[in-house]
Amino acid sequence: MASEPELPKKALQDLMQLASRMAELHKQLESKGVFVGERDLLECDNCTLMEDVMMDGHLVTYFRPAALADFHLPLQGQAPADLGLHFEKLEENHFACPVCGKRIKLDPEASLDNWGTADE
Ligand SMILES: [Zn+2]
Repeated sequence: MASEPELPKKALQDLMQLASRMAELHKQLESKGVFVGERDLLECDNCTLMEDVMMDGHLVTYFRPAALADFHLPLQGQAPADLGLHFEKLEENHFACPVCGKRIKLDPEASLDNWGTADE
């Protein structure tokens, strides 16, 4: 068996190229309305506009259906029609609701802790 070769410069360069290509792809996907999962989905607690991701990865927005308003549950079955609205990114982790203008702050630290748990 041959000894393990060191990672050659060429491989590192390939890796760097791949990383920048992936960043490009991310941008392209985002510009086509695909949610690349770099942040939590947004929801406005003022007017209930919320983001959701469709099966094909497209980011959509709609008002939280009244039946789900009291329970922060994921939608089952068919989602309401996409309103085509987008939360405006103001700065890192700060967004503005396109309907009522409310500022929403995402806490990137809390996102994983809150995953799938209910607030009591
Ligand atoms: Zn709003």
